[in-house]
Amino acid sequence: MTLQDTEAAIRLASDLIAESDHLVALVGAGLSAESGIPTFRGAGGLWSKVGEPSMNGYEQFLADPAGWWENQLDPAADPARTEFREAIDSAEPNPAHHALAELERMGVLKATITQNVDDLHNRAGSKRLIEIHGNRTKVRCIGCEGRWSRDEFSYDALPPICPKCGELLKGDTVMFGEPIPPSVIDACYREATLCDCIMVCGTSATVYPAAGFPQIVTSGGGIVIEVNPNPTPLSRIAVVTLRGAAGALLPKLVERLRG
Ligand SMILES: [Zn+2]
Repeated sequence: MTLQDTEAAIRLASDLIAESDHLVALVGAGLSAESGIPTFRGAGGLWSKVGEPSMNGYEQFLADPAGWWENQLDPAADPARTEFREAIDSAEPNPAHHALAELERMGVLKATITQNVDDLHNRAGSKRLIEIHGNRTKVRCIGCEGRWSRDEFSYDALPPICPKCGELLKGDTVMFGEPIPPSVIDACYREATLCDCIMVCGTSATVYPAAGFPQIVTSGGGIVIEVNPNPTPLSRIAVVTLRGAAGALLPKLVERLRG
């Protein structure tokens, strides 16, 4: 793609966004990778090194919540996991995270649905944020879905218990075998239904439920804008693709929308 092609794509995307009533961003691992966070799958990914996590992680948590917490809180239990966590801890939001937060402040972007759990959208200032796979810095009650920062609890007695309803607390990150919390999935579908323009950034959106959202938008007459360095299955249905790193392209989009 030439520079000219890229500029034409940014012009077209910003015109389409300006004409839209309800822009939603759907974000995936590509944005985290641009902040230096290792991916889970693929070369160098955590799961390629240590193996995929158990497919029934949630069942195991429910069977022994105290044991799960003990393992979580012990940095020596899984050195590769600890190394991975340290990489996330030292990551900073990149220009793409800041651009999305800015689009929200400008009133252009109505919601961000992210598959990332690294808290970088929050740290960049996004407020209308739906973290579909949870947030690693939080804990969540499996009963009332209350969420708190991990730091708000002491972990002297395990497992920690919800101060509101007395149910178990777990890490907010959604485990294999765990249903996405109903309030989160409801919020996603509400946004997808209202949305007439979905900007899909750094994800091939092949994993459900995220994979379904672009389809909901297009079947309601809305459009898909893709921001991705690589072609994905979504490229075929996108009316325009910004081919490159989101951290380079989204700030240009913001600039143009500011006019
Ligand atoms: Zn609760």
